Amino acid sequence: MIDETEGCIEEFYVCPSCHSRLEKTRETEYQCAREGLVFPVIFGIPDFRLLGSGDKAEDGRVNSLIEKFDDFNYEGLARFYADSFGDRRAPDLWKEATERTVAALTVQTEKYEHMKIHFAQAGIELMGKGSALELGCGTGGMVCILAQKFERVVGLDAALDKLILARALAEQSRCINATFVCAYAEHLPFAHQTFSFVSAHDVIEHVGDQLRTLLEVRRSLQSGGCFYFTIPNRYSLVGPEPHVNVWGVGFLPRRWASNYVKLVKGVPYEGKRLPSCFELSRWLQTCFGPDFCRVYVLPDGALPAASVLGRAYRMFLTLPLMGLVVNTAGRLIWGSFAVVCRRD
Ligand SMILES: [Zn+2]
Repeated sequence: MIDETEGCIEEFYVCPSCHSRLEKTRETEYQCAREGLVFPVIFGIPDFRLLGSGDKAEDGRVNSLIEKFDDFNYEGLARFYADSFGDRRAPDLWKEATERTVAALTVQTEKYEHMKIHFAQAGIELMGKGSALELGCGTGGMVCILAQKFERVVGLDAALDKLILARALAEQSRCINATFVCAYAEHLPFAHQTFSFVSAHDVIEHVGDQLRTLLEVRRSLQSGGCFYFTIPNRYSLVGPEPHVNVWGVGFLPRRWASNYVKLVKGVPYEGKRLPSCFELSRWLQTCFGPDFCRVYVLPDGALPAASVLGRAYRMFLTLPLMGLVVNTAGRLIWGSFAVVCRRD
């Protein structure tokens, strides 16, 4: 898998800075034909991050994973990664993150089922045609699921170490139509209108520039293509801040949030911007115009799809009137938003 000669996604790679054509100057390097910027290919994964390849610490993690790649299956490699490099300052968060990573396929299958429900709520058919992009794919669980539905899937993440794990999972799952790319969501290395579908599960709150990211997604989408994303609600009343499991973070002024989380949980709170319902509307209006649909969803895990209550809740949502009631009442306080945008 991920044999680049096998696929044709390479044809759609462009310079993330100027969108001009890229030349493959060597087996392990792309170069921008206009600006001369050079992008290395590491372990089969092109690194299109504009500010260079992460940091020294990331290089160390990447090299360890490459070294151990053939010694473990995906689960083993994920545990090795968590044991060696996981952030253990808050042990409960570390443990939960590790188990979710190891069980990536199961976790993402549930997310995929949620997504199908949200499309049904939005009255839009989730089409499995053409090429899909998973933004912030992490260790690639959703990529492997989308690979069964779409002709081709690209998993993109800003963290190269996570993509090495993703490659292990994709190989183990025999996803021959999946490709992984390291890049920032604000500077996508794809030609205009490459994808028929883009999704981002709880990722947009982590990017440095949300508006720019949404505009880049729009640029990469084909006419009629869909963008689906989920993002936690800043003012959720039905659950704690999901990244740190601390209640009430969003109700504080943003500049106080980090100190508060540090005090309660002992970990910093950086690089996240959760929107309110109104801020999210402004982003969507700016980037997709008035034609978007938003549904309001409970936080992950609140009502697992396998539980009786979870099944009942999901059936309840598919009733047109009830979905409307839940959406209206939950607009301000629900745990997170799921959005379906369609490019005109
Ligand atoms: Zn360029």
